[in-house]
Amino acid sequence: MALSRPLRAAAALTPLALVLAACGDGGGDDEAAANYPEESVSIIVPFSAGGPTDTVTRLIAEPMAEALGQQVLVENVEGAGGTVAGSEAADADPDGYTVLMHHIGMSTAPTLYEDLPYDPLTDFETVGLVTEVPMTIIARSDFEPETMEDLITYLQENADSVNLANAGVGAASQLCGLLLQDALGVELNEVPYDGTGPAMTELVGGQVDLMCDQTTNTTNQINAGEVKAYAVTTPDRIDALPDVPTAIESGLDLEVSVWHGLYVPAETPEEIVTTLTEALQEALTNQTVIDEMAALGTAPVAEDQATPEAHTTKLEEQIDLWAGLISPGR
Ligand code: ASP
Repeated sequence: MALSRPLRAAAALTPLALVLAACGDGGGDDEAAANYPEESVSIIVPFSAGGPTDTVTRLIAEPMAEALGQQVLVENVEGAGGTVAGSEAADADPDGYTVLMHHIGMSTAPTLYEDLPYDPLTDFETVGLVTEVPMTIIARSDFEPETMEDLITYLQENADSVNLANAGVGAASQLCGLLLQDALGVELNEVPYDGTGPAMTELVGGQVDLMCDQTTNTTNQINAGEVKAYAVTTPDRIDALPDVPTAIESGLDLEVSVWHGLYVPAETPEEIVTTLTEALQEALTNQTVIDEMAALGTAPVAEDQATPEAHTTKLEEQIDLWAGLISPGR
């Protein structure tokens, strides 16, 4: 049967209508990017609440929320040295509503994990660097060695009986512990936690002996005398802990600091990334953030570092650096 005129016209129009509908979807994406954010934004933290990565994230969450005009929620997704969170964030919708806060572990994981389920360089867009935090070598308050020099001798003589807390393979604490053990030629008993927040609780309680962790988790406990501090891992002493010597002062070749950055899944529209970068930059110039970071031994990065370009450069350099210094499984 021959088609009636209007029907034939409709049939002829169908492909064009489909094309228009497809264009309409694209327009929807553009609109979503232009209106972003229309609901709350979640920042995934790859370690436990109360630890240093969590602390830095919660410090910037409120001023970022103000800049974005939406709530910023902090969600802790623990496990496997931060890689469980990395996988979850890589698989999230690229719509700007799931953001990942990660640290130096983003650059060590590709070497440490042979079957890492994501590629930090291709599965994410970088938003910007946040802060670079010194580390401290600390122990339970009644641990025998008094100084860094004593600690070096003690670890060389008693390695088998020393428990070293960390946040799992790929965590900054594990990396720092690894550098310490390699520098001394010793192997300690590593005790992994889901984050150094809970590890700190056990260290203060005396259940473990030693830890290397960011000042954002250790400054208050050091100043309160709840843990013993041996050294900072920066080239110079830091203002928040002026009495704590550098590891280098005791002849130990150990220098490491923990850089943090924000990521969104690959293919997140550029407009959304820019909105997040601008919110990050606002948060990092917020006086409360600056003061609270200073009290914890750190500072926000300069504005030109809180950008996708600077962040990508850092990530690429650090992946190359650590690939030459560490090996799988360690
Ligand atoms: N400081 C931890 C680390 O070793 C992680 C954390 O709990 O934030 O990477």
